[in-house]
Amino acid sequence: MEKIKMQTPLVEMDGDEMTRILWKMIKDELLLPFVDLKTEYYDLGLKHRDETDDQVTVDSAKAAIKYGVAVKCATITPNAARVKEYDLKEMWKSPNGTIRSIMDGTVFRAPIVVKGIEPCVKNWKKPITLARHAYGDVYKASEMIVPGPGKAELVFTAEDGTETRELIHQFKGPGVLQGMHNLNSSIESFARSCFQYALNTKQDVWFATKDTISKKYDHTFKDIFQEIYDRDYKEAFEKAGITYFYTLIDDAVARIMKAEGGFIWACKNYDGDVMSDMVSSAFGSLAMMTSVLVSPDGKFEYEAAHGTVQRHYYKYLKGEETSTNSVATIFAWSGALRKRGELDQIPELMTFADKLEKATLSTIESGKMTKDLALITSIENPTVLNSEGFIKAVRENLEKSLA
Ligand code: NAD
Repeated sequence: MEKIKMQTPLVEMDGDEMTRILWKMIKDELLLPFVDLKTEYYDLGLKHRDETDDQVTVDSAKAAIKYGVAVKCATITPNAARVKEYDLKEMWKSPNGTIRSIMDGTVFRAPIVVKGIEPCVKNWKKPITLARHAYGDVYKASEMIVPGPGKAELVFTAEDGTETRELIHQFKGPGVLQGMHNLNSSIESFARSCFQYALNTKQDVWFATKDTISKKYDHTFKDIFQEIYDRDYKEAFEKAGITYFYTLIDDAVARIMKAEGGFIWACKNYDGDVMSDMVSSAFGSLAMMTSVLVSPDGKFEYEAAHGTVQRHYYKYLKGEETSTNSVATIFAWSGALRKRGELDQIPELMTFADKLEKATLSTIESGKMTKDLALITSIENPTVLNSEGFIKAVRENLEKSLA
């Protein structure tokens, strides 16, 4: 069989620990035999990040902007223990944070839905994709403990020295205070990424805030979304047969519990933090969540939502058997290859991505899975495979569908 040719390279960001082991297995078993894989390789493994003073992370993000599509393996975000373990020069920042700020992107997390792993919410038939605004609000707030009686005010001093004041509260006793902000530019980028990704995946967008209570702060979010939608996306949405829906956050939550899924839920920073964990745990497993970073001008970085699965890696190093779930990492590759195929107009590459995903899902549906899924599946007597065994079972199915 002739291998599928590529045109533009994918930006490949290698990573750490168990996911780095899976990364190589996936390439060797599921990609290289079928695709004439073209990648520009960046080693974001912690050792190499340290050697390059983290320059490699910056370079990889710039390459993602240049080529438009990247695929990333999970990476260690160093903490004190990691600084010691890897004898690091510095406690380098989270690579995901660095890449996100360079690409000015929004993260979209979506569960991989498969028969046999049913979400706890029975009517959720299709994935709910969660988009979290990753700038500002309570995450960049200033806070104060108020010791006793006194007056708290919001003061804005313009560059020309003019002051605008707003009374917060006349304290009669002790209490607490918080000041937070956001930026129109950041909200606009967030809105664009959401609308862009909706068009790309042909899904509706839901957005919700508490604008009835927060008449200036949250209302600004609502207005910016609406203006950008009306001006730049309405027509394209109508053509694509998708909609933009705004409601109050409490109404959104109530509706989501009764919905079927199959849409993008755009959330403000804090809502997204809380709701993304609720949605992923309700859909079954962190190991079945994909994640894609989308920039406002439509550049994509695909990855698994989970981390490096450290505990399995230490078992692996001791020569013990592991049963690590590679599904989300396989889907990161298929997502990136499909997008590359779309941009370069290589239908064979897009079909390959579809078949790779189908082969992965049908492996699970036939009862063959890793241990984490075997513990939660509704399929009776599942066959538990080890890390490599699962990938080999997917390969068997893939070969059949490509033959
Ligand atoms: P983790 O996602 O690696 O593991 C969390 C839990 O989920 C563990 O109990 C693990 O056994 C289970 N799990 C996760 N993925 C699994 C899989 N594919 N198969 C089977 N079980 C799976 O998160 P963690 O343990 O908190 O962090 C480990 C490392 O990963 C840390 O150094 C952290 O910085 C890094 N991390 C990276 C990313 C990323 O690169 N996107 C995200 C989160 C954590």
